[in-house]
Amino acid sequence: MSRIVFFCIPAHGHTNPTLGVVRELVRRGHEVWYYSYEMMREKIETAGARFVACDAYDGEMRLSPKDAAKIGKDLALSTRVLVDTTLALDEMVMAQMKDMRPDCIVADSMAVWGKAAALKLGVPFVSSTTTFAFNKHSAQLMKQSPMELVGMLFSMGKIAKQIARLQEKGYPVKSVLDLIQNDEHTHTVVYTSPQFQPCADTFTDRYAFVGPSIRPAQSEFAKRAEKLVYISMGTVNNDMIPLYRQCVAAFADAPVQVVISAGERTDIAALGALPGNVEVYPQVDQIAVLEKADAFVTHCGMNSASEALYFGVPLVMLPVTKEQGAVAVRARQLGAGVYLKKKTAEEIRAAVDLVLSDPAYRRAAQEIAAGFKACPGAAGAADKILRVIAEGK
Ligand code: UDP
Repeated sequence: MSRIVFFCIPAHGHTNPTLGVVRELVRRGHEVWYYSYEMMREKIETAGARFVACDAYDGEMRLSPKDAAKIGKDLALSTRVLVDTTLALDEMVMAQMKDMRPDCIVADSMAVWGKAAALKLGVPFVSSTTTFAFNKHSAQLMKQSPMELVGMLFSMGKIAKQIARLQEKGYPVKSVLDLIQNDEHTHTVVYTSPQFQPCADTFTDRYAFVGPSIRPAQSEFAKRAEKLVYISMGTVNNDMIPLYRQCVAAFADAPVQVVISAGERTDIAALGALPGNVEVYPQVDQIAVLEKADAFVTHCGMNSASEALYFGVPLVMLPVTKEQGAVAVRARQLGAGVYLKKKTAEEIRAAVDLVLSDPAYRRAAQEIAAGFKACPGAAGAADKILRVIAEGK
């Protein structure tokens, strides 16, 4: 029996793909601990792991809304917050790890405190990457060269100061890149297929492309028209009433059923009276809807895009972040969707009509689905983690 410790950030999109891996490891008789956040407790415990809450230690949760909006854009602030979280967790994590003696730490690529703990303890480490894997080749798709990133980072004295704070506490970290970037030697599980991952052949065999993990539908969705159009901007930045208004206007006279998942924080009443063919919900059983959908208007979160493609559903793509932009560029390259620059009712309607009427889009999505289905999935991720443990012994 091995003891494996997971770390993740408080995001469903980063947590969900790991749950199948947890279940698989537990099923094979291993002990799994999972450092995460109260909002994830139930699903993590249901998957069979022992849960440890990180909420009280998280630097980002204590930021003012103004500073929180700068995370990811202001590198000095982002690094400070990552270091704050790592150091706030230090005492508790180190004390628990001393008793626990983990055989392996698996951390989401954004939960850098997990990687930092593995480095400090000298424990075998596996990175869990729910977006595309990143190297100088695939970075081109994200319109960000690693050198540009490196240059920005090294030029900042403020960042060096943060790294020094980690070093003082015994973390063998030379630059922030040691934490935020995986090099070709880092064992990495990537939840996509080698076919969908851009430049997959430029990664070493330390990278395991295990495919997306698609949870089963929890319900049966009632399809009421020949064509079903599903619209969602994900679970994080989804308070987008102006966009939903454009979508309602786009399909008000269309002979299709439209389902919008608008998000739990969105004031749906602000959309006013809805046409009979449009349904808007705070959230839906997305898998149940996608099983029956004919087109998906999406922000191109990695999970949403993968889930749709898994069911051969073509995409109309409205990415917001660089990461989502990379997914959109890749899906367009493979012919499975239309990348929309303008978010007007006319553009959305025209793009949806196109993917509904031209079977090439669905065929391309089905080809990607076949690539996903050929992947080893959660069992392959568990195999990878256990191999890393065996090699470390
Ligand atoms: N999701 C869902 N119901 C909804 C909207 C989203 O179950 O009404 C799920 C969706 O299936 C996916 C996740 O939430 O697994 C969203 O992850 P993604 O990476 O697409 O986007 P994020 O929310 O992280 O921006």
